[in-house]
Amino acid sequence: MTPRTTRVVCLVRRPEGEPAPGDFAVEERPLPSVGEGQLLVRNLYMSVDPSMRGRLESTEKHYTHNFTPGAPLDGRALGVVEESRCSSVPVGAYVRHQLGWRERAVLDAVDTDGADRVDPRLAPLPTWLGLLGQTGFTAYVGLTRIAGLRPGDTVLVSAAAGAVGTAAGQFARLLGAARVVGTAGGPDKCDLLVREFGYDAAADYRAEPVREALARLAPEGIDVYFDNVGGEQLAAALHSLRTGGRVALCGMMSQFGGERRSADLNQLIQAVLKRLTLRGFIVRDHDDLRPEFERRVACWLAEGRITARETVVDGLENAAGALLTLLDGGNVGKMLVRLDDSD
Ligand code: NDP
Repeated sequence: MTPRTTRVVCLVRRPEGEPAPGDFAVEERPLPSVGEGQLLVRNLYMSVDPSMRGRLESTEKHYTHNFTPGAPLDGRALGVVEESRCSSVPVGAYVRHQLGWRERAVLDAVDTDGADRVDPRLAPLPTWLGLLGQTGFTAYVGLTRIAGLRPGDTVLVSAAAGAVGTAAGQFARLLGAARVVGTAGGPDKCDLLVREFGYDAAADYRAEPVREALARLAPEGIDVYFDNVGGEQLAAALHSLRTGGRVALCGMMSQFGGERRSADLNQLIQAVLKRLTLRGFIVRDHDDLRPEFERRVACWLAEGRITARETVVDGLENAAGALLTLLDGGNVGKMLVRLDDSD
């Protein structure tokens, strides 16, 4: 029998300053009945994304809706179909969709925000939210279309031990980069970058100014900067970029929340002097590249040429904590919440 309710993670109130555990609560909410063309999905994995930080605010401008106090959060998730009123999606199929942060969801089988089937024989389920999901796709779009990576380039990636960063470093290498340098918080993450993720060198931005580290690790300068953090690291990269260098502006981890904003724009003169190209992007505007991305990355995975890494937290009640951990740098690779590992 179809369950009538589901547990969800709600936003209790907008954070004052940094988000805190008390800003979130797990609550029981009614589940709509499954209409024609719809699916009931039991979520197995939920994606934890830095962009959720901006969506907690009322004023932060965002490319999707902001969260509302009293209402459930949402986000990318992967689940198994428990009930189907769509002939092309059977019970037992695995689908990705946008109604995460809850145990069960009723959603349209085919829609822009509806279900997208995945094949667990091609890759483990978590990989479909990580390397083969929006995360890997963001790295791929940023390097290829936005930064126009060329064989022989020296590439710098910030937040390099995170989800997008571990993908970007490995893809850059396979796409022909001559040297790949990453920045991350702490010596353990920097070791991992070199040992597991194919980086040639890594800088701990907490221990040393990135500008100094780049003078040592990329003395000839960089051609491409894949920017996940903005602020001081962007300023350092502008300084290190060679003439004609390209920057893919992917995200600004250092700029979330009013208090952390800093003005490092005095380095922007470098863009003029060195004829740089700085281009921001939102990955979902580039869906035409998705088939090419899935083909290439599935192939790299099958050949064992790339490593998928996830940090997995168990249980809906620990989901808000997983977001706070991510914002504090406590993840390596893709941060996921696992709701049920019986599948
Ligand atoms: P990550 O897995 O990289 O997690 C975020 C990491 O950011 C943390 O682990 C932490 O690592 C680092 N970080 C946190 N605060 C700071 C800070 N103040 N300065 C520098 N680094 C910090 O997240 P994702 O891979 O999911 O996302 C990476 C970036 O990509 C984000 O900016 C996100 O918004 C962006 N993004 C953009 C998309 C687009 O369409 N443009 C789509 C998807 C993601 P550390 O310990 O190294 O500090």
